[in-house]
Amino acid sequence: SAGPYLVGLIGEGITASLTPAMHVAEAREMGLEYEYRILDLIELGRPASDVGSLIAESRSAGFSALNITHPCKQLVLELVDDLDTDAARLGAANLVVLEEERLVGYNTDWMGYRDGLTAGLPGASFDRVLQIGCGGAGAATAYALLSTGAQRLDLTDVDGTRAEELAARMRAHFPSQTIVTVEHGDLPRAIARADGVVHATPMGMLHHPGIAFDVAWLREGAWLSDVVYRPLQTELVRQAADRGHPVLDGGLMAVGQACASLRIITGMLPDRDRMERTFRAL
Ligand code: NAD
Repeated sequence: SAGPYLVGLIGEGITASLTPAMHVAEAREMGLEYEYRILDLIELGRPASDVGSLIAESRSAGFSALNITHPCKQLVLELVDDLDTDAARLGAANLVVLEEERLVGYNTDWMGYRDGLTAGLPGASFDRVLQIGCGGAGAATAYALLSTGAQRLDLTDVDGTRAEELAARMRAHFPSQTIVTVEHGDLPRAIARADGVVHATPMGMLHHPGIAFDVAWLREGAWLSDVVYRPLQTELVRQAADRGHPVLDGGLMAVGQACASLRIITGMLPDRDRMERTFRAL
C-alpha cells in the first residue's frame, strides 16, 4: 500500500537505536508518509514475554509493521501466522508485518549481511570462513555466508553448546557444505587457514571493550568482517585494517537490514547507497 505507514521497533534498551532515523529519512526521499516509533520494553516496564500483547496493541493502534530485536527475535516465531522460509530456517525473525488478518514474520538481518558482503568485499573468497560468536547475529551471518556459497564454515563460541546448536541447524539446511565447530584452543590454527573471519560477539562495543582474537593469526590477504556497529571502528576492525586486511564493518549489515525491512513493508525499492550515506552521517 502507499501508506501512511506507522512502524515500530520492539526490544530492550533500544532508545538510542539508529534504525528509526534510517527508515524515516529514506521514506521521506521515497515520498512516503512514514512514522517510526521505539517501543522499549524497559521504558514500558514490560517483560519480553509481553511481545505478543504488544504486537496486538500495536495492531489496534494502526501499526503496519514492527521490527523486533533482542530479546524477542525467537519469541515472535511462535506468534506469527506465516513465517518466511529463510526466517524459519535460521530460527529468528526481526520483522513482523501486520497484514489485514495475519502476522507475517521475516528475517532481514541475514539479507542485510548478505548484501553487505557482496557490496563491501567484492571479489573476496568465501571458500573457507571462520565465525566467532553463535548468538542472534551469528545465526544471520552464518545463514548468509552459507547461502552465498561458503564451502566450509568453522563456528566457534565461548559457549560451546551455542556453536554446536548453530552448526546442527545449518547442516540441516546446507547438507552439501562443511560446517564444523572449533574449540577455543584450536582458534589460532583455524583462523590461519580461513579466507575470511566473521566476528559476531558483542566485544568491541562500548560496554564490552576488547578484541576476540589476535589479528596476527589472520593469514595474509584474509578478510575480516565485524557485526558490531557501535562503534563502527572497533579495535578489531582498526587493527585488521592497519595490517592491510580487507575489512567490512558492521554498518553495511545494519543498513542492509533496514533497507530490506523498508522494502518489505512498503513494497517499494529503497536506495541502499543513500541509506548508507544517511547512516554514516548519523
Ligand atoms: P548474542 O548474545 O545473541 O550472541 C553473542 C554470542 O557471542 C554468544 O553466543 C556468546 O556466548 C558469544 N561470545 C561472547 N564473547 C565471546 C568471545 N570472546 N569469544 C567467542 N564467543 C563469544 O548477541 P547478538 O544479538 O548476536 O549480538 C552480537 C553483536 O552483534 C552485538 O554487538 C550487536 O550489536 C551486533 N549486531 C549487529 C547487527 C548489525 O546489523 N550490524 C545486527 C544484530 C546484532
